[in-house]
Amino acid sequence: MTETYGILAHPAKHSLSPAMHNAAFKALKINADFKYFDIKPEDLKKFILKVRKEKIKGLSVSSPHKESIIKYLDKINKTAKKINAVNAVKNDRGKLMGTNFDWIGVQNSLLEKTAIKGKIVVVLGAGGAASAAVFAAKKNRAKKIHILNRTVLHARKLAKKYNCKYGGFDDFKDINPDIVIQATSAGMNNLKGVELIPKKYLTKRMVVMEMIYSPLITKIIKDAKAAGAKTITGEKMLLNQGFAAFIYWTKKRHPAKVMERAVYQNLK
Ligand code: NAP
Repeated sequence: MTETYGILAHPAKHSLSPAMHNAAFKALKINADFKYFDIKPEDLKKFILKVRKEKIKGLSVSSPHKESIIKYLDKINKTAKKINAVNAVKNDRGKLMGTNFDWIGVQNSLLEKTAIKGKIVVVLGAGGAASAAVFAAKKNRAKKIHILNRTVLHARKLAKKYNCKYGGFDDFKDINPDIVIQATSAGMNNLKGVELIPKKYLTKRMVVMEMIYSPLITKIIKDAKAAGAKTITGEKMLLNQGFAAFIYWTKKRHPAKVMERAVYQNLK
């Protein structure tokens, strides 16, 4: 019988998770189908009942469900609890288990370009993805972490949890970070082209990582490239968290090259 997996999000159609995981299933001859589950927040409870009833094997979880799904799961691990967001669910013989691989996505994407230990890190945003970025920076012993957000109150709340600095985007100019992680949703859908940090504050010595991959070249990536900074675009995080999720679900080694090819073929 074909096993069902899927991306749970709203909207979901921009996601490259189905292309990435279906390519991996095919390469390893796993009889499974990775679907799109575009579920509105008010329909989440009903959807989880369907997951249980239809024995859906695994989910990637994206905005806006990463936090709200927690109360419907049977168990979440320590990491997801600390980050307060779930981005992968496994149906383990009827028990829905939640974890978070976004922090691995951040960590492994950064480590391809820079060390994190001893570095000054700015995280833009204070939602679930930002929390995963701070978790990754902490775990890799960054020297200092600043959380900058549109709503400073949200930054303050997250900073309190991780014991780091916080502020608004205006504070960027006084920090001069080594690493900048763009973890807001400003850059996709109707927020394409939104400027969070003025171009003049991005410099050659920085590594600038973006989480958004649709579009691939966002405003901050364009400006960082123009400044001569090293850049990491959003598909790297998608792939690195996807590799970890694939192993979690299937207990098989992920076919990295196949998954990369599927993502790059489908990128706009
Ligand atoms: P979230 O919890 O909804 O948080 C959204 C964040 O964006 C908040 O900090 C919010 O600020 C900020 N924001 C929204 N609109 C803004 C605007 N117009 N100007 C400035 N800031 C704005 O979302 P999330 O789950 O953390 O996801 C954040 C982004 O990361 C999304 O674009 C998502 O697609 C991306 N992501 C990518 C991957 C990947 O694998 N590549 C994985 C995870 C997430 P306020 O607090 O002021 O509302």
